[in-house]
Amino acid sequence: MGETINGKAIAQQMRDELKIRVERIKMNRGIIPKLVAVLVGEDPASQIYVRNKERAAAEIGMIGEVVRFTASASEKDVLAVIKGLNADSSVHGFIVQLPMPKGMDEKKILKAISPQKDVDGMGIENLGRLLKGESPYFLSCTPSGIMRLILSTGFDIQGKEAVVVGRSNIVGKPVALMLLEKNATVTVCHSRTTDLASVVRRGDVVVAAVGKAGLIKGDWIKPGAVVIDVGMNRIDGKLYGDVDYAGAKERASYITPVPGGVGPITIAMLLQNTVIAAERA
Ligand code: NDP
Repeated sequence: MGETINGKAIAQQMRDELKIRVERIKMNRGIIPKLVAVLVGEDPASQIYVRNKERAAAEIGMIGEVVRFTASASEKDVLAVIKGLNADSSVHGFIVQLPMPKGMDEKKILKAISPQKDVDGMGIENLGRLLKGESPYFLSCTPSGIMRLILSTGFDIQGKEAVVVGRSNIVGKPVALMLLEKNATVTVCHSRTTDLASVVRRGDVVVAAVGKAGLIKGDWIKPGAVVIDVGMNRIDGKLYGDVDYAGAKERASYITPVPGGVGPITIAMLLQNTVIAAERA
């Protein structure tokens, strides 16, 4: 029976450490690290996410702010605000909450964020730097959080088989690059993978980032594998991962729960990136 990776506790420990760093920045430099979230539209999940980020920033002594636009806002207005945030030295990092409403050019908006303030690490320069092995200014939060969770188990991934299910720019691709960087042998699966079960069965590490509840069956898990479940699937108000947790736990050495695994660590990574930005300022 595998051990649960307590993402919530690991994130709390990170926040406690970050709180001390924020205090130090205030004392030594007289500045307060500031994180801004830009939210366009009224998507209910996005409203919750930005509120959580704002609150999490305040809890460690940073300033958390949200700039809100209605869904009918023009792209020009959003770009003007981004330009202002890039230039504002009191803002150390900012994010644009995705998804953007239809009609907004998401790529153009993400490109407008200065790479030095792109604390989500999702801009083209930071992802490009990750690809080329040229230290990004910031690593994107969910993938780096996943790496942190794997590291917390003490599992040595060098030379091992890592299977990533999902190839999004937000999770699958960057986490595959980070695993490769750590010398894992990486396979990336997606919706056209013909025999997903047999590929997942090879994984000493399995990262599931699909968005389909229970897609990864317990008996697909190699005995002793480390399983990271990124999926957040809401069914009748309850949250489920992409992995059959009970079945997979029987075989895994370590596994993340949903909720309480990848979610909390993602926010902690965002806070960490903003603290780093303020330390560099
Ligand atoms: P996307 O929808 O962007 O990507 C999903 C990926 O899964 C695609 O690459 C798709 O393949 C692949 N896929 C779909 N169906 C299958 C299948 N049957 N077999 C194998 N692969 C399949 O999702 P995201 O990467 O943005 O998010 C994935 C999940 O992680 C979601 O549940 C999301 O809510 C969650 N998430 C959680 C975060 C957290 O902080 N905990 C942060 C970000 C995401 P193809 O490319 O061929 O279409």
